[in-house]
Amino acid sequence: MDFVGKDVVSIKDFSEKEIEHILDCADKMAPLADGKSKNTSLEGKVLASLFYEPSTRTRLSFESAMLRLGGATMGFAEPTGSSHVKGETIADTIRMAASYADVIVLRHPNEGAAKLASQFSSKPEINAGDGAGQHPTQTLLDLYTIRNAKGKLKDLNIVLLGDLKYGRTVHSLSYALAMFGASLTFIAPNSIQMPQEIVNHLTEMGSEPALSDSILDNISDADVLYVTRIQKERFPDEEEYRKVAGLYRVDNNLLKNAKDNLIVMHPLPRVDEIAPEVDDTPHALYFKQAFNGVLVRMALLSLLLDPDFDGGVK
Ligand code: ASP
Repeated sequence: MDFVGKDVVSIKDFSEKEIEHILDCADKMAPLADGKSKNTSLEGKVLASLFYEPSTRTRLSFESAMLRLGGATMGFAEPTGSSHVKGETIADTIRMAASYADVIVLRHPNEGAAKLASQFSSKPEINAGDGAGQHPTQTLLDLYTIRNAKGKLKDLNIVLLGDLKYGRTVHSLSYALAMFGASLTFIAPNSIQMPQEIVNHLTEMGSEPALSDSILDNISDADVLYVTRIQKERFPDEEEYRKVAGLYRVDNNLLKNAKDNLIVMHPLPRVDEIAPEVDDTPHALYFKQAFNGVLVRMALLSLLLDPDFDGGVK
């Protein structure tokens, strides 16, 4: 398996085996990620983080991952700090960043921007979210979290709840889970259900996702409940957003119907879709999930940038 120099645009860029390998490598990063051991394997390497959309966890955990491995980071957290405001195209910005850095992490509001950008980058480019498209590294950390909690990725009942239309994390996660043969249930009001094109694709992959608008009808069989925020910023019409805002709320009352070992995940940020009282239950895994982003991104950066990386920590 050779990852060096690869772009990460879609989770479908990886095979099942490659994903398992990334997760195995992430496991070994734990002592480095919490600063208990030191490592300089990426010393001299530079990561450019180009964020045209807000981010807390993705940007900071990529930067933390790079710094923990002895590398350096640079970039912008909002496009107003770049020549984007002067009218520079993404192609030109990417060409320049590729000449200054060894890896580019790009977040952009337009679906397809990551693919386009990868055509102009001579260095590996990682999609950190392209509009309502995909968010492949979020998927890797989601899979890592599920595998750690459940000991497997196969034969699990996974329920995805919330904005399945505009939420990019659930798009890439569904593809990956279908690859691993999980059973998928999509719960959302019709107007923000999983796009038909994705459902068709999942069906071609051999998955038979169930679609519903009732969380109560589906909670008792779930092994994993993956909750998402309604993506307000992507609604073309404020009125449409208002119709679905606040329709679902996961609270302790709902969780009374769940298996004892159900895990509740969320890519964060949450607004009101998970009540704070859930944070103190053993179901809540979302903060752990966010920390796992550092482990997974350390593994990925090592695989893409270090030809000597053999999956272990030196
Ligand atoms: N942080 C995730 C994303 O960038 C989820 C969200 O924004 O709701 O897609």
